[in-house]
Amino acid sequence: MTHPDAAFPDPRMGEPFLLTPGPLTTAFSVKEAMLKDWGSWDGDFRAMTKALCDRLVALAGDTKDEFACVPMQGSGSFAVEAMLGSMVPRDGKVLVLANGAYGLRAAETLRVMGRAHALIDKGDYLPPRGDEVGRALDADPAITHVIAIHCETSSGILNPVAEIAEAVASRGRKLLVDSMSAFGAVDLDVNRIPYEAMVSSANKCIEGVPGFGFVIARKSALEAARGNAHSLSLDVHAQWAAMVRTGQWRFTPPTHVVAAFMEALRLHAAEGGVAGRGARYARNRDVMVAGMRDLGFETLLADRWLSPIIVTFFNPAHPNFVFARFYDLMKAKGFIIYPGKLTVVDSFRIGCIGRMDERVMGRVVAAAAEALAEMGVDSAAPPAAAIAERAKLAA
Ligand SMILES: *Cc1c(COP(=O)(O)O)cnc(C)c1O
Repeated sequence: MTHPDAAFPDPRMGEPFLLTPGPLTTAFSVKEAMLKDWGSWDGDFRAMTKALCDRLVALAGDTKDEFACVPMQGSGSFAVEAMLGSMVPRDGKVLVLANGAYGLRAAETLRVMGRAHALIDKGDYLPPRGDEVGRALDADPAITHVIAIHCETSSGILNPVAEIAEAVASRGRKLLVDSMSAFGAVDLDVNRIPYEAMVSSANKCIEGVPGFGFVIARKSALEAARGNAHSLSLDVHAQWAAMVRTGQWRFTPPTHVVAAFMEALRLHAAEGGVAGRGARYARNRDVMVAGMRDLGFETLLADRWLSPIIVTFFNPAHPNFVFARFYDLMKAKGFIIYPGKLTVVDSFRIGCIGRMDERVMGRVVAAAAEALAEMGVDSAAPPAAAIAERAKLAA
């Protein structure tokens, strides 16, 4: 018999698969790890926090003890806000590279906390490129930091963070990376991609449950961050300093979530780390995209920008297609899909991450085919206008 961890779906749960980019489908053993209560001050929990931080710093590729990991209670956006508010001095200025909702959220976060910023907004279809980032930095010497979104989860585009990092580093500015939906499955090795700090969370590619995010930052940057924060609880320097001093989180940690995350990290390592996880997600994407295209669906993005995290499809033009009904039919077949988050065209998304493999993705495609038949949609081709718009904007 195969080990239960290898089973997709886990026969013990009978839940629908979450084809969403976090919260996502987790392993049975990850859920099981939450059956025990922990004292947040207790030595065993402190040891777990230390192991968690050490493992994440190692995942980032740090071998020179130059980086530290600072976990932060809350969802991913709390950790992004903590990173921005702590790493950017109050008189700093941030260049925000946006091509979707999460980039725009970073700009909004800076606006709310009163930090100066400039915006490069590429719309939904295109990545910010190194050369244009370089030009923007040359034109504005006041810019101290750049924030890039690694995988822009609203469209699924995988941004070229290596060339962006190069453009930023060569001009002596500092890069912050929102790698929320990519870290753990897409390379973000500090030895190849220079950055000051990055942020991710428990419930994305490491396949834990929601409840905390984490900032992995240069220790020199953490030291320099003292007194920068606009907020008491979202102060990365204060959280780090307290952890170094006491081994504890400053305020109540999500103890069960941390325990679950340790099991998720164990499974991540057993799968072959970033490379193994990324390979499974890429197979998930390839099988799913090929099958959906066979049904007539079209992806928002050209193949070269398709991430192994999540894929956006145009809604079919057929008059019988209604997304809410498609959603309900897919759910009844065991799959929770995700509405679109684009500014212009109607779309929906299917995630490739979480505890599932390409056999599951084959069943997703079969379910989509059945759902279309039940709706009386004989072609999933998108409206001509959506294709024309894509051609125009992606030119
Ligand atoms: C998920 C995600 C976030 C954080 O979202 P929360 O809902 O606050 O967890 C931030 N950036 C990106 C790119 C994401 O995918």
